[in-house]
Amino acid sequence: MALSGIEIYKLLPQTNCKECGFPTCLAFSMKLAAKQVELDDCPYVTDESKATLAESSAPPIRLIELKAAGGTTKAGNEVVLFRHEKTFYNRPGVFVRIADTEGAEAIAATAAAVESFVVDYVGLELKLDGIAVQGSAPDSFAEAVEAVRGVSGLPLALVSQDAAVLEAGLGVLDEAEVPLLVGATTDNWEALAGLAAGRGAALAVSGTDLDALAELTERLTDAGVEDLVLHPSASGLGARLAMQTQIRRLALKNFRPLGYPTIAFAGEAADGLETSAAAQAIAKYAGFVVVDTFTPELAYALLVLRENIYTDPQKPIQVLPAVYEINNPKSSDPVLVTTNFSITYFSVANEVEGSGLPAWLVVTDAEGMSVLTAWAAGKFDAERIAKSVKEFGMADKVDAKTIVLPGHVAVLSGELEEELPDWDVKVGPREAVDLPAFMKAVLA
Ligand code: SF4
Repeated sequence: MALSGIEIYKLLPQTNCKECGFPTCLAFSMKLAAKQVELDDCPYVTDESKATLAESSAPPIRLIELKAAGGTTKAGNEVVLFRHEKTFYNRPGVFVRIADTEGAEAIAATAAAVESFVVDYVGLELKLDGIAVQGSAPDSFAEAVEAVRGVSGLPLALVSQDAAVLEAGLGVLDEAEVPLLVGATTDNWEALAGLAAGRGAALAVSGTDLDALAELTERLTDAGVEDLVLHPSASGLGARLAMQTQIRRLALKNFRPLGYPTIAFAGEAADGLETSAAAQAIAKYAGFVVVDTFTPELAYALLVLRENIYTDPQKPIQVLPAVYEINNPKSSDPVLVTTNFSITYFSVANEVEGSGLPAWLVVTDAEGMSVLTAWAAGKFDAERIAKSVKEFGMADKVDAKTIVLPGHVAVLSGELEEELPDWDVKVGPREAVDLPAFMKAVLA
């Protein structure tokens, strides 16, 4: 039974020392009751109180970690329904499903493509997280898992309702791996529970309604299997969304039988809706998303969507401070400067790229703020700009040494000339949309 804010308050030190970031212990206790802070944020809770508070401080959605030589994929530990209430923590793992009926050669080819797929997105490397192997018979399943493991070390989901099939696949894997077994139902749960417990694997339970899912997880936890994942199955997008949302809502209300991350098989959606179902599952509220169709354009779109949803709304979206080459610049081309607030970066980069004019774009670390905000906060000044220019070795990349400041910070031009005496400092336009015309008129 979860404790109320007042009950939690009685177990806190009540010194109002503010170290947790809240003005009073009462304010902290209210946040803890709402699952919006961690108990560890207060360094003074006694062990005795910690034990009493364990349930209240436990995340409403259990953390599940799938492990393999190629990485770890986490799901769960979420504490809010809407991202703006705090943040979402663990990006849903995007898996590609391969059937054991496809033949070892085709399986290895797909697995290798999934393994090597990478998106370079504003300095971030976005990758797929795992492979789901669908089993039909023990021998073919073991061969399929072996073919996947021959080319990929990514975490695996082993999918079958037949314990003998899953056991054959598990036999191929390294003992240290933690895969996800998918396929527990009211008919086979005891056999699959034995397999999961024996190998320390996570287990996904399947059901078409929440009552069935909750009943199954209770049976499994009674049997000692704690690392569970929910697989609510439905074909229509509306039904899929409703089940995912209800599970998240109930979990956040501390309904323990549904306090687990979910897995969504987008290929199970009605015909032609796989892409929409995958995107929907990323937004609301899957912990693992499995697609049957692997194409670079689909994977790219899903990973970028996920990146945008799983950014912390309390922190500005940033791009990596670096020098970005636009339209293959040469040593005679100009150097433009801006901050690492992603919208600022994209505004400038898109305008210049669209114009076809080559330029070097130096993005300075302004803690993710836009040009004017960063300047006002002292995070975008001549010293920082000069430091970036030197750090990125711009003097070795260009001969012309023409550097363009954003028009909003024209006031920095004198100081920048002092910081970079060999450079010709020019003041560009205030708006990114005017950059191409400026470049043609002033820099040509
Ligand atoms: Fe109270 Fe602990 Fe916060 Fe200090 S850190 S105000 S003792 S809850």
